Amino acid sequence: MFDWVGAMQCSKCRREAVVLQRYSGLHLCRDHFIADLEAKAKREIRQKRMIVSGDVIAVALSGGKDSSALLRFLTRTFGERRDVSILALTVDEGIAGYRHPEQAHQIAEACGVPWHCVTFQEIAGTTTDRIVEMRGDALSCTYCGVIRRHCLNTAARDLGATKLAMGMNLDDEAQSVLMNVLRGDAERLIRRPAPLPGVVRRIKPFAGVPEREVALYAHLTIGRFEEASCPYAHNALRSDVRAILNEYAWRHPATKYALKNLGDQVPEICNAGEADLQVCPECGEPFSGVCRSCQLIREARGG
Ligand code: SF4
Repeated sequence: MFDWVGAMQCSKCRREAVVLQRYSGLHLCRDHFIADLEAKAKREIRQKRMIVSGDVIAVALSGGKDSSALLRFLTRTFGERRDVSILALTVDEGIAGYRHPEQAHQIAEACGVPWHCVTFQEIAGTTTDRIVEMRGDALSCTYCGVIRRHCLNTAARDLGATKLAMGMNLDDEAQSVLMNVLRGDAERLIRRPAPLPGVVRRIKPFAGVPEREVALYAHLTIGRFEEASCPYAHNALRSDVRAILNEYAWRHPATKYALKNLGDQVPEICNAGEADLQVCPECGEPFSGVCRSCQLIREARGG
């Protein structure tokens, strides 16, 4: 039983509910909840044309609940398809006591997909802990986020992946839109990234599923998760935005969907075209102006 409901009956059958969706007013039992979540993710995949015949999907698997739930969902949905293949890809950022690649390995094995692991050390020549030692922890998430993105793209491309599946959920999407608003970043609000050679397209099948429902899905389809939190998480602007948004959405339950829709619709309404990006000849990452990935990796190595 998830902690939102007492002994309530499912709105669609007579079984006991495991969740109350405040934005829809529905109580759902285990089976109707799983069916509802999977229908939402399939709709997102269809609407954004995320997966096509011949795709090799690399799932970015941290071993946490979001990415593990995504791997479970994708193998349940596409595992039998002969024209789509799935693999799991873990990035070890080098944060002592936080990242445990072995946990990701076990989940990949349980889902029956091949597992690959790359480290910051082997691709960028440093670790997040070492960056914090050298530069302090105020910008830890800036370095870590950019380098992880670089590692994921490099490894996915080397493995022949055509799509890189990320476990971002509705809360992440709504937070990103709100962060762009709070930073006054009109460019990011109105333009979509253009497809570039060498850059594996990212897909986010859970973009329309609330974080707490992804957690419940992981719990019901995989089991209990012991998740440590990153010791540097307090530095992310995102944690402030998450707190503001959760507090507001408690009183206005459809807010996260409203923000996601805003992020989806503004580029279409503005019709401003795709972001003007190039591919960096040094690292293969997209950039505009100066390659931020190369710049931060150089700084992180002490250059
Ligand atoms: Fe990296 Fe920041 Fe995430 Fe920690 S919270 S893993 S430092 S991006």
